[in-house]
Amino acid sequence: MSVNVHINSPNVKYTDTHIVSQYPYQTTSVHRDGNKVTVTPRTTEMTFSTERHVPRLGVMLVGWGGNNGTTVTAAVLANKRGLTWRTKTGVKKANYFGSLLQASTVCLGSGPEGEVSVPLCDLLPMVHPNDIVFDGWDISSMDLGGAMERAEVLDWSLQEQLRPLMSRMKPRPSVYVPDFIAANQESRADNVLTGSLAEQVEQIRADIRDFRQSSGVDKVIVLWTANTERFCDVTPGINDTAENLLAAIRDGAEVSPSTQFAVASILEGCAYINGSPQNTFVPGAVELAVQRGVFIGGDDFKSGQTKVKSVLVDFLVSSGIKPTSIVSYNHLGNNDGKNLSAPQQFRSKEISKSNVVDDMVQSNSVLYQPGEKPDHCVVIKYVPCVGDSKRAMDEYTSEIMMGGTNTIAMHNTCEDSLLATPIMLDLMVLTELCQRIAVRPQGDEDFMSFHSVLALLSFLCKAPLVPAGTPVINSFFRQRACIENVMRACLGLPPQNHMLLEHKLQ
Ligand code: NAD
Repeated sequence: MSVNVHINSPNVKYTDTHIVSQYPYQTTSVHRDGNKVTVTPRTTEMTFSTERHVPRLGVMLVGWGGNNGTTVTAAVLANKRGLTWRTKTGVKKANYFGSLLQASTVCLGSGPEGEVSVPLCDLLPMVHPNDIVFDGWDISSMDLGGAMERAEVLDWSLQEQLRPLMSRMKPRPSVYVPDFIAANQESRADNVLTGSLAEQVEQIRADIRDFRQSSGVDKVIVLWTANTERFCDVTPGINDTAENLLAAIRDGAEVSPSTQFAVASILEGCAYINGSPQNTFVPGAVELAVQRGVFIGGDDFKSGQTKVKSVLVDFLVSSGIKPTSIVSYNHLGNNDGKNLSAPQQFRSKEISKSNVVDDMVQSNSVLYQPGEKPDHCVVIKYVPCVGDSKRAMDEYTSEIMMGGTNTIAMHNTCEDSLLATPIMLDLMVLTELCQRIAVRPQGDEDFMSFHSVLALLSFLCKAPLVPAGTPVINSFFRQRACIENVMRACLGLPPQNHMLLEHKLQ
């Protein structure tokens, strides 16, 4: 049951259409001169304005017939209908566990009843996942009922209930360039667009318009959850600027399918999110998004092992312990694992998994010399028997006091797509919310939106995409605090400081 949060403050106004808050944004400017560090606090008065009307959201998934695509669609249908199903351990009920917005809470403070916490989704008006309408593309023509069975993720008795609904949905034909994904995917590709690159982009744009019109949704977001592609070369004259990228599509130069989808979405004014590791957002695609004022976000859902890494390394480094080696083994047996068994696609994943500790390491000059990093190795193997139930084994070795060694080894088993699904929903809901938030620093005439490269999504991404020249934050706690505090700012509430001074003084 959702709660109604009302802010009682002269700094917050609720109009019929907006929540408007006055917010003192406090930062510091820091100057370092040798050993001397001078820190100057700064306060900028800001106005946050959040549109209250929640639109009807449509989401188009690229790779709709895959494990994630079918699982997210099925999970939303099951939640919407409040489905229950029996397993050998009892009756299960549909839920959104694993979703930051739906299933985690924020502490608003304390009153006579003690601390009051509410789910993040109740802080501001936002789309409920149950109301999202899905559509999408896949190079495999299998309807979603069959594809859900092929995925082997959900319990059979739940599948039986969902199958009639899922079978009515069929992915639209998609772009297939064999060279970009593993050769072992070829047998799936029976639902492909023909024609030139430009014609394919036109068709994707037409599909988006068709979906918008036929479903009656107000807004569309496009999310790539198709196979991991190999990296593409960033080539001057081809994809380095928006103009060159559009010309490359016109002229039939090398443009990856995922970049074609990104370009088509941006041209249709639809936010585009990349849930896989490849470099879809070549500089030309980023420039196009900025020119058109459309949100882009990514890369690569941060669901399992990397999420743990961004917690554990944060814990170690911020406790003053020095990780010296991180070794991660994975094996999985789903189609994602099959695709990643090819070297070029594995390489994309390896790159996206490997930078996740950089900011935490660089932040601590007591533990690490400039340029020094822990050894970091990632291995992924395809083992069909385990299906979607991915295994991740990690060994963290750290240097502790007086030359001592601390080794932490962990083993994690779980259905990969059931971790990814709530993250996909959070990406959709948070992106849509950000489209309704505008900020005006004091003295400025106009409200500004967030930068087209939506860094606020970092919490949900393994390799966060940020505007050029701005810091990449991987630390789990900093990423989460960012989302929570931006939402609080929209309500004129100060950032969560956890000081609890009211209980610590006498
Ligand atoms: P999957 O192989 O089950 O699904 C991918 C789907 O994409 C398949 O149905 C395939 O036919 C389709 N496809 C391939 N190329 C396409 C194209 N050009 N256009 C349209 N459809 C295309 O994989 P999955 O387990 O659903 O994972 C999807 C992606 O999400 C992968 O790239 C994976 O690396 C990434 N990812 C998954 C997780 C997770 O599941 N925990 C975490 C992070 C990232």
